[in-house]
Amino acid sequence: MRQLLGRTTLELEEIARSHGLPAYRGRQIARWLYRRGSALEAMTDLPAATRTALAGEFESGLCAVAHREVAADGTTKYLVRAADGELVECVHLPYADRVSVCLSSQVGCAAGCTFCATALGGFSRNLTAGEIAGQLVAMQADRPDRRVSHAVYMGMGEPLLNYDNVLASVRLLTEEIGLSARGVTLSTVGVVPGILRLAGEAIPLTLALSLHAPDDALRERLVPTARKWKLDQILAACGEYHARTGRNLTFEYLLLAGVNDSPEQARALADRIQGLPGNVNLIPFNHVATPAGFRRPAPERVRAFREALVGAGRPTTQRMERGHAVSAACGQLRRAVLPRIAPRATPGSR
Ligand code: SAH
Repeated sequence: MRQLLGRTTLELEEIARSHGLPAYRGRQIARWLYRRGSALEAMTDLPAATRTALAGEFESGLCAVAHREVAADGTTKYLVRAADGELVECVHLPYADRVSVCLSSQVGCAAGCTFCATALGGFSRNLTAGEIAGQLVAMQADRPDRRVSHAVYMGMGEPLLNYDNVLASVRLLTEEIGLSARGVTLSTVGVVPGILRLAGEAIPLTLALSLHAPDDALRERLVPTARKWKLDQILAACGEYHARTGRNLTFEYLLLAGVNDSPEQARALADRIQGLPGNVNLIPFNHVATPAGFRRPAPERVRAFREALVGAGRPTTQRMERGHAVSAACGQLRRAVLPRIAPRATPGSR
């Protein structure tokens, strides 16, 4: 059945008109869906006959919370269920001054990064725009006390390999839910055509590049897509993104003990990204049992890497690590929990 969530206010107005209703009914539906996460049955200011007529044609398309784990620091990791029963991972991160959510763009991932839990499970399918925005809507409805202000596309999947749905979901976040584009970060492994296309959209999103190595040879060992898109091309595309949007970049750098964590590599990294404004965000490896057997570097190793970067003039942050107790790295929760709560065989009523 067709779904309401995922459609813009304009499209919902069109649906209202096609049912002989005034356009403002479409705006009411949009508010219920995106601001309150309410299903069609609960849209009490719509006439009952209208709800019944719409229900014959549409389902709400809301994601149901299938599982949640709360860490001591307040981070909550969710599995939400899409209409076809697929389980999607997302995270709610309350801070003192803002609430951020981490969203998945695909079920599984085809990029195959050698340190990543999502990669181990392979690729299932793309998420629709409604299913991506629906993760935020589901978490907001579950935690109504504080408004979600920020979103990062750092859950399962490679957003730029699901470009159209991801872009449509960004528009839902900014235009329907009311987030500022500057509060939305899209993280990519370095899909050059996607970065260039995004640069042309003129939306002031923050672009985060998962760099993880200062040179192509090492990067290819960690990130298989590096064979296709070389650092020179990727960094040129990032330069283009900055030039077109005026936005600083974020360079994510995963630290793996004895692999990419030496001070020399930090200096090489600083050289490599010279001229591109933005912070490096260091992410010490969250343990995942992968065939490569990676380990997390000791804290003093992380500190030395950071100091080398700062010494070379590059602003550097370390990812605030939250939710360790709830398997907060990409794809970990779904892997851990899936065997316990298998997806339902038939799609639900929502
Ligand atoms: N595909 C996108 C977004 C998803 S992952 C990307 O590659 O950017 C979000 C970030 O988490 C990426 O920087 C990714 O490299 C990192 N990550 C994946 N597995 C990790 C792990 N086990 N420990 C720490 N960071 C990890």
